Amino acid sequence: GLHSSFYYLENHDIPALHKTFNRFSYKGDMGKILLVGGSPGKMGALILCAKSALRTGSGLVTCHMEDSERFIVQTAVPEAMASWGLIPNPEFYDSVGIGPGWGTENRVRLLKQFLQDFKKPIVIDADGLNLLARNPDLLPLVPKNSVLTPHIGEFTRLVGKATNHLERLELAKRFAMDNELILVLKGANTVISLPDGRQVVNSSGNKYMATGGSGDVLTGMITSYLGMGYAPENAALCGVFHHGMAGEIASKSKRRSLIASDIIASIPDTYIQLD
Ligand code: AMP
Ligand code: MG
Repeated sequence: GLHSSFYYLENHDIPALHKTFNRFSYKGDMGKILLVGGSPGKMGALILCAKSALRTGSGLVTCHMEDSERFIVQTAVPEAMASWGLIPNPEFYDSVGIGPGWGTENRVRLLKQFLQDFKKPIVIDADGLNLLARNPDLLPLVPKNSVLTPHIGEFTRLVGKATNHLERLELAKRFAMDNELILVLKGANTVISLPDGRQVVNSSGNKYMATGGSGDVLTGMITSYLGMGYAPENAALCGVFHHGMAGEIASKSKRRSLIASDIIASIPDTYIQLD
């Protein structure tokens, strides 16, 4: 099962990982999350991330960006709040996702400040990972059991170059163990490396998901599960599985026309099929 050192994650594993909420749940129970990202010309990444987190179940989503970009977010995602400048009280948030579309110019100081203030597990993706790769002194500040979601390019910058995929999986395992982090190596059959050395291979998803914004949707989903109080391991597993499953459902009618927004639109169907 899931406790073996190498495991293939399938449909039937998922319902047991889900948290249940009761009749008296209110939006605070569903998690207050902050998504940090976006930059001029790349606001779509942050918008997709926010929409995805809302569809996954987050109660309150705040997007943090440059002040010049806040109108686009407020228009595109009316359910989300916007913040800019310094991050005023990070402890307010149950979890945080950092990186989609963020850019790397002038970001190090905010990232360092944030990592010094925030102690709960977070999700780091995209330019958040590129910043860690360039500033290795920040890596020890990343909260234990945080979830890092590189594709192969980001993985190579952050962890190192491998000559083949099996060697890459070994590097991933070592990285997760040495840093006590959860490393999600994305691709066809995403592999989740856990801090105790286990590795889980995802079975859901398909080639039509190789499209711009697909990874930003995943970041929103995993951050959403963390914010709802899922253990980081379960947040990573549920996020990766539901993301792939949503892509499969959307592909049935969209095929090669699939875009990242179609994945978000199919998140509700993953719950209908698994609950
Ligand atoms: P990103 O490169 O950050 O946009 O992330 C791409 C997302 O799409 C990841 O979640 C990948 O696992 C997924 N993806 C990309 N290509 C494939 C594929 N051929 N089969 C299944 N999933 C894929
Ligand atoms: Mg990406």
